[in-house]
Formats: sequence, structure tokens, C-alpha cells
Amino acid sequence: MKTVLITGANRGIGLQFTKQYAEAGYTVFATTRTPLESAELNALANKLGNIKVLSLDITDEKQIAGIKSMLNGQAIDILIANAGYYGPKDETSQFGQLDQVEWLKTLHINTIAPLKFAEALIDNLLLGNERKIAFLSSKMGSMTDNGSGGSYIYRSSKAALNAATKSLAIDLAEYDVKVVALHPGWVLTDMGGPNALINSETSVKGMRSVINKLTEKTSGSFVAYDGQPIPW
Ligand code: NDP
Repeated sequence: MKTVLITGANRGIGLQFTKQYAEAGYTVFATTRTPLESAELNALANKLGNIKVLSLDITDEKQIAGIKSMLNGQAIDILIANAGYYGPKDETSQFGQLDQVEWLKTLHINTIAPLKFAEALIDNLLLGNERKIAFLSSKMGSMTDNGSGGSYIYRSSKAALNAATKSLAIDLAEYDVKVVALHPGWVLTDMGGPNALINSETSVKGMRSVINKLTEKTSGSFVAYDGQPIPW
């Protein structure tokens, strides 16, 4: 029985990851900040039976420690660090009025917390057979792709996540742990908004295929949902 842990599983891309992996027969540890209010996730868990809902604010070190001790001795094949935050979309994300508090919050959620969570669960990953970590990044974190400027807060948080992804892939190679930064496409979710180009079903189907094909050779790469490499 394979096991996957997904953060931010109550809505959007995380909920879709939970659905598809559970339907594929995986045991899914699905984290949400608000277990009691996560109606769609709870309904899915009741229907499928192989989803365990856990409470986690990814920025809370005590809660991370709680998950670590709760999962002590539990193998996890794949860790999907999906929870993310865009930060402000107004002028406070633009040069001239950059909001320092929001910037730090966004860096905490998108960059620091996923790495701290991976750090906490490394023993569980080493007990698994697949040994894979997928970080939900964004093409907006690509320096090469940035032709429009702006979005300082979100872009820098994902670029920093990419840098950490690369280091982690190198550092964990000797333990056969594979690490990838994923661009999910522009996806119809609360974050992606109504003009997005693809639905979460298509995005997650593609990313599952990328994760499935992830090897020690492709570890440390930045890949879109359709398998296309993204330039750093
Ligand atoms: P949504 O905004 O729809 O969902 C975000 C998820 O992250 C929610 O489950 C949210 O929980 C959770 N989250 C936010 N902050 C925290 C926190 N502190 N602790 C725990 N969970 C938290 O986003 P998407 O589903 O669209 O995005 C998923 C990932 O994909 C993100 O990392 C995003 O940056 C990335 N991405 C998305 C794109 C898109 O087009 N949608 C494009 C490129 C990248 P809650 O409900 O409690 O707020």
C-alpha cells in the first residue's frame, strides 16, 4: 500500500491531488488548517475511506512537531508540499509600496514552511519505497520567464523555493530521495482565478505523471504539469 501526504488539501489543487491519489488506491494523509470546516475534503474522506485528515497550519512549528510525532514510524512514499499563498495583489505587491509584513508571511508559507515540513518528515520518507518530494512552485518564480516584472512578493517566494528545491535534491541524492519543483499550469482555483486556462483535474493528472516518472536523473528539476522543463 503506497502512502502520500498532501498539504493544503481542503481546496483547489491540493483537494484534487487528494482525490486522485485516493482513487488510485494510495493511503492519503491530507492536511488542512481547518478540519472541521473542510466540507469537501471530509465528504471525500467519508466516501473513499483511505484518506486521513490531519490538522496543520504549515507555518506553525508546534503543529509540524505534532504531525511528526503522530506519524512516527509511518512510511510516506510521496510528500506533496502544495499549500501556498499568493500574498497581496494590489499596489502593496508593487515597487514603491511593498508590504514587508505580507512579504515575510508569503516567504514563510511558500518557502520556509515547506522545507521545515520536509525536514520534519524525512525519516518517514526514508521508510517509504518511492522517496519523492514534490514542491508546488510556479512559473512566476522563473527568472527566465519573467517578461512582465512586478509581483515581487509571490515571484521571490517561489524563486527561493526553487533554490531550496535544487539544494535539497543534491543533499538527499545519497539517500535516494528525489525532489522536484512543479509548475501546475494556470489553474482554475481560488488562487488561479476565473480566467485560468486549465482545471485542477488536468493539472493534477499531469503532475502525478511527472511525479511518477521522477528519477534520480530528473531530481532537482523544475517541470510543468505537462512534463515540459521550465527554465530557472
Ligand atoms: P488555493 O489558494 O486555491 O489553495 C491554497 C491552499 O493552501 C489552501 O488549502 C490553503 O488553506 C492552503 N494554505 C495557505 N496557507 C496555509 C498555511 N499557512 N498552512 C496550511 N495551509 C495553507 O491555491 P491553489 O490550489 O491554486 O494552489 C496550490 C499550489 O499551487 C500553491 O502552492 C500555489 O502557489 C501553486 N500554484 C497555483 C497556480 C494556479 O494557477 N492556481 C499557478 C502556479 C502555482 P486554507 O483554505 O486554510 O486557506
